[in-house]
Formats: sequence, C-alpha cells, structure tokens
Amino acid sequence: MEPSSSNTGFIQQQPVIKNQFYDDVSYQRVARLFLPSDVFDKITPDAAQLGQEVLSQQVFDWVTDAEHNQPYLRGNGRDSFGRPKSELVVGEGWRKLQDYGFEKGVVALNYDTDHGPYTRLVQFLRCHLWEASCANTLCPAAMQDGAARLLQRHLFSSAARKLSPTERDVFQNAYTHLTSRDPTKTWTSGQWMTERTGGSDVSQTETVAIYDPFPSSAPVPLASQSESIPLGPWSISGFKWFSSATDSNMTILLAKTHPSKGVSAFFAPMRRHNPSLVSHTGESGNGTELNGITIQRLKHKFGTQSLPTAELELKGMRGWLIGEEGKGIQEISTILNITRVHTTVSSMGYLGRSLAIARSFALVRPVGMGKGKRIALSSHPLHMRTLANMTIDYHGMMLLTFYTIYALGLDERSLPSGSAATKVPTPPKELVQPLLRVLSSLHKSYVCETTVPLVYGCMEALGGVGYMQNVESEHLNISRLFRDCCVGAIWEGTTDVLASDTLRALKHPLSGKQSVQALDWLILSSKSAALREEWQGLKNKIETGKQEELLPEARGLVFRIAEIIVSVLYLVDVEASPAVEIEAMCARFMEKKGFSVEEAVGKRAKEGGLKLDQAIVYGAGKEIAPGAKL
Ligand SMILES: Cc1cc2nc3c(=O)[nH]c(=O)nc-3n(C[C@H](O)[C@H](O)[C@H](O)COP(=O)(O)OP(=O)(O)OC[C@H]3O[C@@H](n4cnc5c(N)ncnc54)[C@H](O)[C@@H]3O)c2cc1C
Repeated sequence: MEPSSSNTGFIQQQPVIKNQFYDDVSYQRVARLFLPSDVFDKITPDAAQLGQEVLSQQVFDWVTDAEHNQPYLRGNGRDSFGRPKSELVVGEGWRKLQDYGFEKGVVALNYDTDHGPYTRLVQFLRCHLWEASCANTLCPAAMQDGAARLLQRHLFSSAARKLSPTERDVFQNAYTHLTSRDPTKTWTSGQWMTERTGGSDVSQTETVAIYDPFPSSAPVPLASQSESIPLGPWSISGFKWFSSATDSNMTILLAKTHPSKGVSAFFAPMRRHNPSLVSHTGESGNGTELNGITIQRLKHKFGTQSLPTAELELKGMRGWLIGEEGKGIQEISTILNITRVHTTVSSMGYLGRSLAIARSFALVRPVGMGKGKRIALSSHPLHMRTLANMTIDYHGMMLLTFYTIYALGLDERSLPSGSAATKVPTPPKELVQPLLRVLSSLHKSYVCETTVPLVYGCMEALGGVGYMQNVESEHLNISRLFRDCCVGAIWEGTTDVLASDTLRALKHPLSGKQSVQALDWLILSSKSAALREEWQGLKNKIETGKQEELLPEARGLVFRIAEIIVSVLYLVDVEASPAVEIEAMCARFMEKKGFSVEEAVGKRAKEGGLKLDQAIVYGAGKEIAPGAKL
C-alpha cells in the first residue's frame, strides 16, 4: 500500500467543458424549433464559433481579473487635497470582456442585422452562450439595448412626440453610439429608477427635474466638445439608490417635474465638457467632468462583484425629456420589456453552463456503488435521475423564455407574408402585444426564481469542489454563477412584484380582456385536455375574482399559468421533432406539475431507466464513454 501525498495517489481528472452550441441538447432543440431552418443554417457558423470562444482560457482569465480586481473609487472619492472627485476605476478584465461583447454585437445585432421577427431570437441565442463567461458585462449591455430601443422609437416612430432638430441630433448621436460594434465608440447606458423609497414603486421618486434652459445670449454648454452635442434644458437633482453600469456613458432616469404629475423619463450623458478644468500637466480647454453626479459609494454585494453598482447623488445634472411629461412609466416600460428578457436569458445562461459543468464532471468522477464497485457518476442511476430532472426544468424554461423572445421579435418586426414559418404557434397580429404584455412579467417572475435552486443543484452535483470559488479553474466556477444568478429574481422587478404585475395585466379594465384572449389563443389550441381545463379554471377565477382578493395568490396563480404554457410548448416541441427522450421530458414535467399526461406522450415516458435519463442529460446518440453510445 502506497500512502497518498500532495502529488501522488488519486487526483481527479479534469472535466472538459464542451461548446454549448452543440453540447447543450436543449439549446439545439430550442434553436431548431424557433428558427426557420434557413435562419438556423445562416447563423450556425458564427454562433458555433462564439460558443467555442467563450470557453477560451483568455476569456476565463478576463473573468478572473474582473472578479479579482473589483471596481473602486480612486481616493475614496476625493483628490489629494480633499476635493470631491468621483473617479471610478474598473479592471482590465472587465473592459476586455465589455469590448469583446461589443465586437460580437451582443446588442448591435438587433439593430444592424435583419432576420425579420427572428432577429431577437438570434441575438438572445448568442447572449445565452456568452452569459456565464461575461462576468456581468451583459448587465450594462442589457440597459444599452433597452435605451437603444427607446431612442429608436422616439427617432423613427410616427406615434412618438415630434422631436426638435436639436433633440433629434442628441438622440441620434446616442443611438449611433449605443448600436455600434466598435469598442472605441460603443456606449452602454444606465437605467436609474430605484430610490430609497423603493424600486418596486417608482411613483415615490424623490428626484426632481426643473425646466431651466440655458440663456440664449451665450453658447449652450456641451456634453461632448468633439461631437458638438449640447447639454439638455432640464436640471435634475436627487439621489439614486442603485445604479449598475456606473461606468456607462449615458443614462435613462426617472424624475418628477411637478408634484401633481407622474414621473417623467430623461436622457442624460454621464459627462460634460468643462473648458475651465486644468489638467495636472497644465492643459486646459478639453476637460470633462461628471454631469452633476457624485458617486456616493459603491455597493458591497453578495454577487455581481465585477459590476460597478453605486449610489449616486445628482445636483443639476443636465438632461433631455423623453416623450411626454408624466409618462415616464410608459417610457421606461419599453426598456423593461428588454432588460427583463436579458435578465431571464442570463438565468438561462448560468443554468445552461452549470448543467454543462455538472455533465462534464459526471463523466470523469468515479464514485462507489457498494461492494468495492466504482463507476462514473454518469452511470449512477440516482445522479442521472437528479440531473435529468434538472434538465427537464431547464428545457421547460428555455421554451418559455424563447417563446417570450419570439413575441418580442414579432412586436418589433412583423412576420412578412409568405415567409418561412417557425414550428411554434405564431399569434395573430392583434394578439402579439397583449401576449407580450403578459409573458414579459410572467416569464421573468417564474424563470428567475426557479433557476436559483437549480444552479445550486449543479453546484452540489460537483460535491465540495462545487462550493469552491475555483478561480484556479475558472471554467468550473459554479459558485460565482450561483451568486450572480440570485440577483435575477430581485432586479428588474422581484418575483412577487412581477407576479402582481401579471395579474394587473390580466385584470386591466381596458386591455385585460385581450391579454386573457391571447392566453386563450395559445392554451386552447393545445391538444391536451388537461391543460385546457386547468386554464379554463384559472381564467374563470381571474375573471370573476376581485383583484385585491386574488393578490395574495398572485405568485401561485402566475406560476401555474407559467407551468401550463411550458407544458403547451413542450407538447409543441414533441410534435415538431418526436423522440423518446423529449416525450419523457414532457411527460415527466407535466406529471410533476399534476397534469394528466396524454396517452401518446405518457406511454414512452414510462420506459424510464438509466439509459433514458442519460439520453435526457447528454442527448441521444452521444458517446458518454469510449464505445458507450446512448
Ligand atoms: C446588484 C443590484 C443592482 C441593481 N442595479 C439597479 C440599477 O442599475 N438601476 C435601478 O434602478 N435599480 C437597480 N437595482 C435595484 C433593484 O431593481 C431593486 O432592488 C428592486 O427593484 C427592488 O426594490 P427595493 O430594493 O427598493 O425593494 P422594495 O421595493 O422595498 O421591495 C422589498 C420587498 O417588498 C416586496 N414588495 C414591494 N412592493 C411590493 C408589491 N407591490 N407587491 C408585492 N410585494 C412587494 C418585494 O417583493 C420585496 O420582497 C439593483 C439592485 C441590485 C441588488
């Protein structure tokens, strides 16, 4: 018997993480289900390359750097002589990851590429691959995307308020930066809503905007000298309690213009030109400073540690009104529709990667089976059942998430007549917006909450190593993903806030009927009598119940609708591309949720066993050991 030492004895073989574009069976199924085959073929080479690149050592080194060299305020917010100086410093890894995302067009793709209503699907399929390797740089990108969409609507929609020529120049300049792929030009955006009074209820905003145009007798001060962009006529003061993307170039924020009016939305650049500033080498005339902003302090957080989240004091920040005074909630909802999807896709990206790590670990980790027998975890019936169950939930949420994205895409670009069809149900034009109104809050509420224990489950699947920070093997770092994943159920609306928002959408005196009709259209088209019946019961409850009586049950109600929609989409998936494992996944999901399973799906699902679980986890036909094909 040889005793073990630090370098001898059993040393665990390194798990190999494979390109998720190919390796993640759910990802492939969803991409093929939602995209017409010509679009799928067109995007494959680029997306597959992205899937490979995001696993490179270079990218993981940047992630480690971004997490290790966390953002800080130089001099704790003061210069050497005690003058206030809000200088935020972010690490090199953070900047490199951001630049990489810009170049890959994680936001720009939706604005410079046209795959018709499938463009959003293509964009978010790419984001899904990038999420777990981007160290939260997709958070500012999400707000960049939302801001681009908002400005796009004001620049190009005939329904928007008419812009003055100067406003048009200012918005166009920002829009061009937001949608650029050139890292030297691309802007990200902040989105400042949350104040100490509560992020869930922005009507209590204490930030005040005063219309105070610059006198016409002198040139208007500039935001940017090189681009001749003037500062806005509104002077904004207040305190913003949470600002992620503090390193962004602009922000969209909420403020009150009058006590009797609702909140209004504003655009403001982060910096402004100050010709009187003198640099330490004596140069003057070119200096810039923050636009009336003081970074009060950076937040110390459980996760998202690479992300510079700050408290900001605003004093005379100069901005431009977006849309009508008092209609800020309406304006910000354009952004929220986008940022909520980004948040959900990040949860899916974290879970997708965590499952990939758990799968790869199971292939190489030997465990005991009693009587001295040792097998790989990937052949252990209980471990495989556990991973299969998690994969089933993951796939259900992938279907719901990407169906919401499909609705978003249809809202932005309608389906050209005669275009190649997707295999998923396409709502009639008049139901697209009512459907999106419900799905937008419903999917975020359900997915971001449900993902958290699943990512934890993947951490547990690696045993003690899963609980480690693993910065020395960053590709295995599920604990980082878990910490980052937890915030998904809080920002952009907590689970309960979004559940009550979904209820509000369904009970709305003007548009509620149409939202219910949209769900009718989706669910009543299903072959499953059990799902149709369950929905009819819930619908009856929603239609007859008073909103205040239904409120305490909102989370349960909304989660139940989510489970019905997931089941409807599972059945669509089974029909589009039948196979034993997808039928079993569908049946097990429905059974777990208490829906009686139709004969066709149920029968094959009963054929359980290790091999089926392995096929659910790894995919049919995959080789999980030399010579052992599923
Ligand atoms: C890391 C991080 C970064 C963030 N970045 C930003 C940012 O860049 N910009 C920004 O604007 N915000 C940002 N936020 C703030 C975030 O959006 C808010 O924290 C969130 O909306 C909740 O608001 P709150 O913290 O004020 O909690 P509250 O609104 O006070 O909520 C506290 C609790 O009350 C419950 N609750 C409140 N109202 C209701 C209701 N009507 N019905 C049922 N339950 C209710 C909530 O569910 C929650 O459980 C960030 C937060 C974090 C953690």
